[in-house]
Amino acid sequence: MTNLLLATRNNHKAEEIMHLLAGSEYQILTLNDFPDVPEVIEDQPTLERNALKKARTAYEKAGVLSLADDTGLECYYLELKPGVYSARYAGEGATYEDNNRKLLWAMKAVPFRRRNARFRTVIAIVGKGIEKVVEGRVEGDILEAPRGMNGFGYDPLFVPRGQKKTYAEMTLEEKNQISHRAMALKKAVEVLKTIL
Ligand code: IMP
Repeated sequence: MTNLLLATRNNHKAEEIMHLLAGSEYQILTLNDFPDVPEVIEDQPTLERNALKKARTAYEKAGVLSLADDTGLECYYLELKPGVYSARYAGEGATYEDNNRKLLWAMKAVPFRRRNARFRTVIAIVGKGIEKVVEGRVEGDILEAPRGMNGFGYDPLFVPRGQKKTYAEMTLEEKNQISHRAMALKKAVEVLKTIL
């Protein structure tokens, strides 16, 4: 088994990623196994650069092949916002509910045909002599009111194209079949296979 450090302390994310990598040749670790790795400030202007910053820091401090992701919800009407600011859209320390409320406000009275958006996940893999970046995208629409209790973040507001349910109305298994993070992870798994 080769160690793979998931550079996150977000348990929702770690759970999704572990689920997708179950049965692989990798022994999955998280930052909870490395309490000394410092919190990375996600201050970069793009998802790509944030993901790389997190994976590089984890690799440098823990010395283990590291995988980091950064995800943003990009609404076309809002010129791809909140994007890289998705976690703190309603301000520093904002809750998921705060961010959802702000998004609904920003999209108030916007007609359905202009409520299209995409989730984009960028994954960086950093190890000895390795720096790789892959991306997964899912197009969809932003509802006018939240639906569903599962998942996290903007899940209750986002219906993937071709689906009837929001991400928050899907089980984790259903979300993992189609999600932006799953798409990016499938590509990351291909990269990881070439590393082993
Ligand atoms: P992160 O920087 O990758 O943790 O993601 C930034 C923000 O995007 C999170 O705080 C969530 O609000 C949102 N987000 C990320 N992934 C998802 C998802 O799968 N569903 C809904 N919201 C998400």
